Amino acid sequence: MSGVGKGIASASIGKILQARGLKVTAVKIDPYLNVDAGTMNPVEHGEVFVTEDGDETDQDIGNYERFLDVDIFRDNYMTTGRVYQSVINRERNLEYGGKCVEAVPHIPYEIIDRIKRATKKAGADVTIIEVGGTVGEYQNVLYLEAARMMHLKNPDDVAFVLVSYLPVPGKIGEMKTKPTQQASQMLNAAGIQPDFILGRSTHPLDEPRRQKLALFCNVAKDHIISAPDIESVYDVPINFEKENLSEKIIKTLKLKAKKHDLKEWRRFVNRARAAKKPIKVGIVGKYFESGDFILPDAYISVIESIKYAAWANNRKPEIEWINSDVYEKDKKKLRELSKFDCLVVPGGFGSRGVEGKINAIRYAREHKIPYLGLCYGMQLASIEFARHVCDLRDANTTEINPNTKHPVIHIMPEQLEKMSKKQYGNTMRLGGYPCVLKQGTVARHAYNKETIFERHRHRYEFNNEYREAMEKKGLVFSGTSPDGKLVEIIELPKDKHPFFVGVQFHPELKSRPLNPHPLFMGLIKAGLKK
Ligand code: GLN
Repeated sequence: MSGVGKGIASASIGKILQARGLKVTAVKIDPYLNVDAGTMNPVEHGEVFVTEDGDETDQDIGNYERFLDVDIFRDNYMTTGRVYQSVINRERNLEYGGKCVEAVPHIPYEIIDRIKRATKKAGADVTIIEVGGTVGEYQNVLYLEAARMMHLKNPDDVAFVLVSYLPVPGKIGEMKTKPTQQASQMLNAAGIQPDFILGRSTHPLDEPRRQKLALFCNVAKDHIISAPDIESVYDVPINFEKENLSEKIIKTLKLKAKKHDLKEWRRFVNRARAAKKPIKVGIVGKYFESGDFILPDAYISVIESIKYAAWANNRKPEIEWINSDVYEKDKKKLRELSKFDCLVVPGGFGSRGVEGKINAIRYAREHKIPYLGLCYGMQLASIEFARHVCDLRDANTTEINPNTKHPVIHIMPEQLEKMSKKQYGNTMRLGGYPCVLKQGTVARHAYNKETIFERHRHRYEFNNEYREAMEKKGLVFSGTSPDGKLVEIIELPKDKHPFFVGVQFHPELKSRPLNPHPLFMGLIKAGLKK
């Protein structure tokens, strides 16, 4: 089922195989009809992870990038919408030579082609393919069919891992294997025999459970792997190796591999565990609620980026979510922000909670709390500065007030055209773009480089009409597109504020466990001083 940890399991299997010297890539399959994740709201989908080549994908792609420390591209993300779209386009172009085009086999063929393409592009020895959804639902049946066909053709080249949940019902207090037995039987009905079962549960698998699963699911007992809940997802690869999972997979796939090297990863995990002194980070955003539940997944990359930077500084990150709505109704509440060592306003869309975010940014600026604004967080910081320092009271983004007297943030003409034609899907400014950093600035100091590449996802931009006026009042435009036309980074000078940086891009998409992002490092370092 969704949320059981397939993404982390896939990324971790990739990690342990990579640690054996194999080149690994990963493919995510989302069985919905949306062509990409860009058109779904965060309650439906969680975070939209943007790849270097501008694809709007699932947060699991982010997990793969973080665990494997490689860039994952558009070819590695598949949705049913995308698969059907290309088959139908091909049919329209007569590329099937007059044949009847059918769901089977043409859809599975397209799926297999895509997997091969992604593998070839990455030059991978092993491709981890994660099929989203639940076995037995209609939506992913053609993906299972593709998997079956691949295995039939090359039985030694395909291994199946069933990630299954084993509940421990409160009243009974015993771990139940039946749902996993059922899941395994359903896979059998699709012509697939799992080679491994990852038993996800609140508890580790014990001997009787392993025996039952082996017997009833027809899987070798030492291929039943225990995957209990643990404090940090980064321990998962290490736990898998406690059961020699990489060796077992390598044998199943008849691969040759080197001796295991997870040294650096272990060092990272140990360092994180040893960090005891806290650093308090407040994220002022809008909450995403689903009924009685709150979904923090919408900002997973931001959260992980903060963690990496905190751990690298031997601090234990204490991240708190603050609903910006409260600062709209009650400005006195803003005072609670002073308890934080640093503040982040993440990306966002629309008007809910925006005035509260602006109030929080003002508080961070005036009270010298280290601040990092991500995308919307940069745009709103510009508006805040325009309103309260440059006295442009009505300053706003045209996303919220199209008739504002001072459109400090406005939409680009080509974006306006797309919007008027209702071309919403995959049309924002997306993916990696270069940015040139100005000498002597906080940003330049953090990156220690002149040109950087960062990933974008937005329609609105800083309005250059306001550049001069704001510069005069002390705002620094420390990063722009190479032609100087697009403002990518704003900041306050070091002698005016310990760390106040807003970026039009999403640095959180490029932060990696072993390589924390320089801007998050800058924020945390400034926070330590506070
Ligand atoms: N809503 C803003 C825009 O479209 C910011 C987007 C974001 O934060 N990702 O430009």
